[in-house]
Amino acid sequence: MNLILFGPPGSGKGTQSARLVGHYGMTHISTGDALRAAIRNKSEIGMRAQAIMERGGLVGDELVTDLLRSIIGEHRDTTDSFLFDGYPRTRQQVMNLDQVIEEFNLSPPAVIQLDVPDETLILRLTGRRLCAHCRAVFNIYFSPARQNGVCDICAGPLMKRVDDNPETTRERLRVYHGQSRPVLEQYQERGLLYTIDATGSADEVFRKINSVIEENY
Ligand code: ADP
Ligand code: ZN
Repeated sequence: MNLILFGPPGSGKGTQSARLVGHYGMTHISTGDALRAAIRNKSEIGMRAQAIMERGGLVGDELVTDLLRSIIGEHRDTTDSFLFDGYPRTRQQVMNLDQVIEEFNLSPPAVIQLDVPDETLILRLTGRRLCAHCRAVFNIYFSPARQNGVCDICAGPLMKRVDDNPETTRERLRVYHGQSRPVLEQYQERGLLYTIDATGSADEVFRKINSVIEENY
């Protein structure tokens, strides 16, 4: 089974991905995580992506697709179940993914859309804090750490992602509505789109995702 977890920034793709990996043993591919790793490693891809990501734009289709291809290539021998998180994000990427799916002889992915209104997304993103050590996620509005700025789990320092500031957040949402949402129509036409209300707790959302998978796969 292959799945695309689709949703605006802040819809909970990362959280739900971790659960899907734990529950179904899928191989998680997050283009956002891969790009952030490339930036940390100061690789050429990272250099090209950094400024774009910091202002909330989309990295070029060709570059992210090459990245995707190389990650699938690393794992294809040992798995045939991928979870795509943050890809495809443009109509062009849908076409690219079709080609990649064929190249690697994978089954066509279904799309699970996490639906959350913009007002909630803005609070989720601007309030998000990540532990610098263990990557645990907190939110100053919805799920604050017991002690301000300190991780409940490992006592590491809490930080903000550079693109979680108010201006970049607005730009990411604008890009989402303009360029990414249209992707859904393509999967809708293929009968492969499942939409879930993702405003509830992470547990509730995971239960809904589970039902979709159990009913259809
Ligand atoms: P979010 O969905 O919360 O914005 P991600 O970690 O998925 O976070 O992505 C962060 C940034 O990485 C995006 O704003 C964009 O600049 C870049 N990015 C990630 N995936 C893609 C993609 N498929 N195409 C183009 N840019 C991407
Ligand atoms: Zn921690």
